[in-house]
Amino acid sequence: MTSIRFAILTVSDTCAIGEKIDESGPGLKALVSSAGDVSCTAIVQDDETLIMEHLIKWSDENKADVILTTGGTGFSGRDVTPEATKKVIHKEAPGLSLAMLMSSLKITPMAILSRAVCGIRHKTLIINLPGSRKAAIECLTAILPAIPHAVDLILDNKANVKDTHNIVQSHKFGLCLGHNITTCSPRTNPIIFENVATRLRESPFPMISVADALSIISFESTKNVNVEIVNVKDAYGRILSEEGIRSNCDLPPFRASIKDGYAVLANDGKGRRTVLCGVKAGTASALMSLKPDTCVRVNTGAPIPDEATAVVQVEDTKLVLKSFDGAEEEEIEIMVEPKEGQDIRSVGCDIKKGSSVLNPLTRIGPVEIGVLAACGYKYVAVTLLPHIGILSTGDELQEPGEPLKPGQVYDSNRISLISLLKENGYNSLDFGIVTDNKMDMITKIGTALEKVDVLVTTGSVSMGDRDLLKPILENYFKAAIHFGRVNMKPGKPTTFATCTFLGKKKYILCLPGNPVSALVTAHLFLLPLVNKLHFNNSEPIIMQAKLTSSYNLDPRPEYARAILKWNNKETLPLAYSTGNQISSKLLNCNDANALLMLPGRTAEKQVLNEGDVVTARLISLKSLH
Ligand code: AMP
Ligand code: MG
Repeated sequence: MTSIRFAILTVSDTCAIGEKIDESGPGLKALVSSAGDVSCTAIVQDDETLIMEHLIKWSDENKADVILTTGGTGFSGRDVTPEATKKVIHKEAPGLSLAMLMSSLKITPMAILSRAVCGIRHKTLIINLPGSRKAAIECLTAILPAIPHAVDLILDNKANVKDTHNIVQSHKFGLCLGHNITTCSPRTNPIIFENVATRLRESPFPMISVADALSIISFESTKNVNVEIVNVKDAYGRILSEEGIRSNCDLPPFRASIKDGYAVLANDGKGRRTVLCGVKAGTASALMSLKPDTCVRVNTGAPIPDEATAVVQVEDTKLVLKSFDGAEEEEIEIMVEPKEGQDIRSVGCDIKKGSSVLNPLTRIGPVEIGVLAACGYKYVAVTLLPHIGILSTGDELQEPGEPLKPGQVYDSNRISLISLLKENGYNSLDFGIVTDNKMDMITKIGTALEKVDVLVTTGSVSMGDRDLLKPILENYFKAAIHFGRVNMKPGKPTTFATCTFLGKKKYILCLPGNPVSALVTAHLFLLPLVNKLHFNNSEPIIMQAKLTSSYNLDPRPEYARAILKWNNKETLPLAYSTGNQISSKLLNCNDANALLMLPGRTAEKQVLNEGDVVTARLISLKSLH
């Protein structure tokens, strides 16, 4: 299918003079970005001539296949977009206006006041949309699937037109418009939703293994390193750029004393020394030069005189003579034979100037921050953090703190996932709750994808008739669904998709709604995904553990929540079950610090017994200290 060229004309007095920011134009741009490119945009006042000029220019100069106008369709005196449109179109397309009206009436009875006009000028389809961002997106959503076919008809793309007709006819539903439209754009495997009787009763997605799902995530999230410069103070948890780090200076930059004592000539041996002066850490080296039978008092870290060949610690000396006022040492005796080079750090003995001190893509922890500071770095180049958004889906969800209405439950997934990400060094944007309503979901997903690289949703990926996410991603965001079913318990419906949105690759990870499933799959898939995008090579900690109770194996490999405990008698940690493993029961994850990776049931192996050893994946440091 060829990409459609869209033009967007925002008609608004206030936006045109800069009094208000245009939100509708960018909103529409985001929505159509999966269907094509936006070739022109403009903002004009509610002025019939100006509107006409743009419509005529963009269509006559063949700058766009579809022109979307937003604004100026109401009843106020200044609203003239439909009038301007009527004057320039050669043919009307009232079906499009009607479809938008029907769809809007389901949202508000006030939609009867819409005056939107749609029509064709030369080879360009012109569509009037309301001015508000929400209404404009809702109206366009209602007709968007029909637009590729309309453009094919206008441009006389015979092959595409034939394909669409074949698809539509073979599925025995006409070119439907309005709220029920899902599959009118040409696609090979149309998915119908919002019709419970015709919903699929078996998932069309093949069941793949967790290992394969992880390989797909890793493959899809492979990209080039992009970096930013941050202050070293803010670099904790970040990943160094591919350059790595070389030291800006020698450490120590001068010959330094390791002890509080006296810098001496080692070959003077034991015996008395005249104390020439004292040198503290942080001061320049002594001005007086060391001669036989003299010494210079030095503190730990102080520069020692050039001639000195050893430092004798104060514990190995005796005071022989003090100054007249009793404040200064004049002579000391060295009790232990000094060795050549003793207690002297040579220049650059810890770090040589220009030497490589941190490897490329190292995760910056407390030690690495210290190394950066010691090498003189105030700023450092680190990989970009992925922008992550979290969205809960479900009609039944309520914000904690609000009263629960019948049938509602509190949304716990969002805050749980946000916290899990925070624990792993990632901030995320909270996109709230979206109801199981197609238009709301499309709008919300579009808004989120404008802002983030990774969108994480929970809910709406099972087999219920309200599980709309997969078809929405495929149909409206032209997303490639890389997997939609994983052979695991919990977490079977976990879905991973990518799409191009506003010219950028976006990653969409749809986790199941059940709170335990959401958390388990976030550990297994979300953290590897965001780590990969961040170039963070941390691997999960996997170990063996001994069961303290028996498990009936499930046909699917199971990730059972458990508490691992260590004691002095056993070489392996003991795994204590957290109780009932039903995936809705978050409380049973409470103290869990590990997921036991129980194998799928086979004819030979149906049960694991107390004392059996299983593989476990650490998910928290709880109970480890
Ligand atoms: P779904 O995956 O949408 O079919 O939801 C499966 C179950 O998880 C249902 O019982 C939902 O009520 C519950 N659920 C879905 N999302 C959330 C959430 N954000 N917080 C708590 N429970 C949820
Ligand atoms: Mg749901």
